[in-house]
Amino acid sequence: MLQLFIPLGFLGIVYRQIKYALADMDLIFKLLDRKPEIQDRPEAPSLALREGGIRFEHVDFHYQPERQILHDLDFSIEPGQTLAVVGHSGAGKSTLSRLLFRFYDVSAGRILIDGQDVREVSQESLRAAIGIVPQDTVLFNDSIYYNLVYGRPDASRAEIERAAEMAHIRTFIESLPDGWDTVVGERGLKLSGGEKQRVAIARAILKQPRILVFDEATSSLDSRTEQAIQQTLSEVAENHTTLIIAHRLSTVVDADRILVMEQGRIREQGTHRVLLEGGGLYASMWELQQREGADTDER
Ligand code: ATP
Repeated sequence: MLQLFIPLGFLGIVYRQIKYALADMDLIFKLLDRKPEIQDRPEAPSLALREGGIRFEHVDFHYQPERQILHDLDFSIEPGQTLAVVGHSGAGKSTLSRLLFRFYDVSAGRILIDGQDVREVSQESLRAAIGIVPQDTVLFNDSIYYNLVYGRPDASRAEIERAAEMAHIRTFIESLPDGWDTVVGERGLKLSGGEKQRVAIARAILKQPRILVFDEATSSLDSRTEQAIQQTLSEVAENHTTLIIAHRLSTVVDADRILVMEQGRIREQGTHRVLLEGGGLYASMWELQQREGADTDER
């Protein structure tokens, strides 16, 4: 009997591990929103990263041929600068970050990083250059320590602690009964939206990418958390070329430049002040959000 129990128990463990692994793979693909058919060209060289300048050159894009999503997008982000993209839901904002990562290829035009077409370089080197703070951060069912370090397994304990500190999450982690060993994720401690974003920011800091993409969560955080995240973000963005996909205009006020998108086209661009003075789409979106904010505060 004993002999029968052991293999069954063993199989149970293997089954659980496979199930967990698959669940995580599923989450990863969901996170990346990735189509697997994008392949490297044979012998594709690594991206020769210098200052991290980005250029979208007359980019058209569709997910399905019958529905064009982006129309002739043409803009640059100078090295070290922050560009924020705003626009109504469905305008095509998050699609920009997917194209930059080359989860999809453009239908026309080019995307260049430091002058190199993203289709010409290895995907591995491309993604190593870019840190992303996604809308929804996927946590592995593992310790919070592992969740931070998995993007850069060679990081030292001191580096991890520093990244957590910069992301303003270290004190929180160390206040948990199990500290860094606390298991998080679906089967562990559930982190709030703001805490998850901070984990993602810490991961991005640890990765030390030249380029940072922040895809702001659509679901709103309470205003204190939101302010803290914004503060962290602007500290982290200081030495990086940064693309912010923004859902709340309060996030973009300090950006070097703002693109206002509408139905896959650039409708306006400029600084917050210039766009407000322009009295166009951005100014009306700003006014609406101010009013909504005031309504919420009154409640
Ligand atoms: P939101 O502010 O709601 O996040 P967004 O401006 O980021 O919106 P995108 O996610 O870039 O918008 O989507 C732009 C358009 O592309 C939308 O109409 C959307 O329905 C469509 N779209 C997005 N992902 C896919 C996909 N995988 N397949 C087909 N269509 C898609």
